[in-house]
Amino acid sequence: MNIILVGPPGAGKGTQAEFISNKFDLNKVSTGDLFRENIKKNTELGRKANEYVNSGKLVPDQIVTDMISDWLSSNDNWLLDGFPRTVKQAKSLDDILSSQNKVLNSVLLIDVPNHLLVNRLLERQKIEKRTDDDPQTIQVRIDTYEQETSLLIEYYNELGLLTKINGSQNIADVSVNIEKELLNIKKKINN
Ligand code: AMP
Repeated sequence: MNIILVGPPGAGKGTQAEFISNKFDLNKVSTGDLFRENIKKNTELGRKANEYVNSGKLVPDQIVTDMISDWLSSNDNWLLDGFPRTVKQAKSLDDILSSQNKVLNSVLLIDVPNHLLVNRLLERQKIEKRTDDDPQTIQVRIDTYEQETSLLIEYYNELGLLTKINGSQNIADVSVNIEKELLNIKKKINN
């Protein structure tokens, strides 16, 4: 089963990605985590991504697509957290998958209204101390999501791949809903 997880910053994608990958035994990759690791280690990729990640803007499509293409070539049965983020990235993913004879089974959208996001991210900053969780960068990330990533949602909706999950509930309830949806999707794949 190959799944994409989409949602605004603060939707709880990281937490739910962890849950899904354990429950359904999927290989998980988070592009945000990969960038943060590379920035910490000061690799060439990290140096290229640093300025974008720290200002809350999207890293250029080509850099992200090359990184994920490498990862996909050695992984199957996966969950992508944070990729794609633009329609261009989604189309690149389609090309990568068809060249590797793989299919995307479903896109889960964790849907959370804007007014809940800022508080959640400010709370997270107290614990995780992410440099991009300050009020100004949070706003850039939410705006970027609305401008770029929401078009992606339309793209997958038209392809009939999108499933919306109510992300306003508590973590455990969101997980229960995700599990239900993924069990349905798994059943359809096996039939
Ligand atoms: P995240 O951990 O998913 O919130 O991502 C943190 C940051 O990493 C984002 O604000 C972007 O700067 C960068 N990033 C992560 N995934 C992507 C992507 N698919 N395309 C462009 N930039 C990304």
